[in-house]
Amino acid sequence: MRGAVAGGTVVSSLIPVPEARSRVLEAVALLAPRRVRLADALGLVTAEPIVAAGDVPPFTNSAMDGYALRGADASEPPVSLRVVGLVVAGPSVGCVVRPGEAVRIMTGAPMPDGADAVCMVERAVVAPDGSTVTIAHRVRVGDHVRAAGGDVTAGDEVFPPGTELTAGCLGVLAGLGMADVLVHPRPVVGVLSTGDELVEAPGALSRGQIHESNRSALLALLAHSGFTGVDLGIVGDDERAVADALADGADRCDAVLTSGGVSVGDRDIVKAVLGEVSRGSMQWMQVAVKPAKPFAFGTIGDRSTPVFALPGNPVSALVSFELFARPALRAMAGHAELHRALAHAVADEELARRRDGKLHLVRVAARFGADGIVHVRSAGGQESHHLHAMARANALAVLPDGDGAAQGDRVDVLLLDPATLGSAGRRAASGWGA
Ligand code: AMP
Ligand code: MG
Repeated sequence: MRGAVAGGTVVSSLIPVPEARSRVLEAVALLAPRRVRLADALGLVTAEPIVAAGDVPPFTNSAMDGYALRGADASEPPVSLRVVGLVVAGPSVGCVVRPGEAVRIMTGAPMPDGADAVCMVERAVVAPDGSTVTIAHRVRVGDHVRAAGGDVTAGDEVFPPGTELTAGCLGVLAGLGMADVLVHPRPVVGVLSTGDELVEAPGALSRGQIHESNRSALLALLAHSGFTGVDLGIVGDDERAVADALADGADRCDAVLTSGGVSVGDRDIVKAVLGEVSRGSMQWMQVAVKPAKPFAFGTIGDRSTPVFALPGNPVSALVSFELFARPALRAMAGHAELHRALAHAVADEELARRRDGKLHLVRVAARFGADGIVHVRSAGGQESHHLHAMARANALAVLPDGDGAAQGDRVDVLLLDPATLGSAGRRAASGWGA
C-alpha cells in the first residue's frame, strides 16, 4: 500500500528488504570518473581498461644469483667456463657471453647477449682466483631466465574497467610505469545526527540527555568500507538547524546519512524538513526486518544528493547502513559486488525468534572452528539499543520468519568483518603446509 504525501511517498505495508534495497539502488548514480594517484587508489574501481604500455619485465633478466652462460656449453657436464665479467641489477652497459664463457650475474640483472641460461650460484664451483667456474650438472636453455614480457606483455589488457584495485593491482600499475589511474572516486558521505537529547562527548548529561554515538560508529563504518566520511555534527529537533545542516551536506558530499527522527510517532521535524528539501522524493518505508524497520531514502539539493534517513536507535542505524546505504554507496563507487558475503555457519547455541512477518538479523559472534567451518553464538542482547552486543558481533545471522535456529542448525550469516573470523582453529592454523 502506498500513499503520496507532501513530503514524499509513504509505504504503509511492510516491504521486504530486497525491495527496499532495489528502490535505493535504482535511484543512485555512478560517480563520474576522476584520475587519482596510485597512493590514493586502494579499493577504488577502475573506469578505464588498463592496457600495458610496455613489457614487464621490460628486459630479459636473471631469476637467480649465479652465472649466465650458453645452455649449449653445459649440456654435457661437468664443464669449466671462463668468467669474463659481472653484471648486477641496475643500469649497465651490455656485455657478451661467447662459447666457453660465463658472466657472474645477480638477480634482476639483464641477461648478457649470447647467454640463454643461468646456473645458480649454489650449484657452481668457482676457482679461488675467480677466473673460471665449474658446473657439474646439466643446465638447460632458459633455466632461471625471466623473459621480457613474461609477466605482462605490451598491449595486454591487464585489468578491465570495473576492477577493484587491490594492493596487488596497484603493484602491477606501478610496475607498468603508471603514476595515476582513472577511477570512480571514493564517495564522500556526510553524517548528521538529530535529536534534542543528544550531547557530544565528553559533555556532561542533564536528565533526559544521552551521549551521541551514531556519528562515531557510522563514520568508522564509512572509513572501514573505503568511503570518506564527513562529520556534519549534531543538530537538535529544530527545523532551521536541520535544513541548514542538510543543505551543507548536500553541497559538500556525494551522499548524506541522517540518523534519528524517522520512526512512526517521532516528532516529525526531520521528516518535515526532509520532505521539503527532497522536493517530495523521499520514500518513507517500514521494512520487514528487525532491527532497522524504519528507513527513508530520497535525494536533496541541486545535485540530487542521495540521503539515507537511518533510524536513531544505534543498532538499527548500523544495520540499516549495512542493508541499504553501504550497497548503494558501493554502487556509486562502481563496485560490482554490492553486498556483504553470505556464509553458511553452524549455530553453536539456539538462536530463537518468534514469528512476526519480518526477517530477523541476529547479532552474532562468528569464528572459524577447528573444523574449518564458521560457528556462531549470540553476541548478547538483541534489542535495538544494545550497541554493546553489536560491538561484540562480527556477523548477522539471517533468520527467516519462523522459530529461529536450534543448536547445531546451519544458518546463513552476513559477514560484517571477515578479517575477525580468526584462523581456522589452532590445529588447522599451525598444521597447514607442513
Ligand atoms: P529516534 O529515531 O529519533 O526516535 O531515536 C530512537 C532512539 O535512538 C532514541 O532512544 C534516541 O535517543 C536514540 N538516538 C537517536 N539518535 C541517536 C544518536 N545519534 N546517538 C545515540 N542514540 C541516538
Ligand atoms: Mg529523535
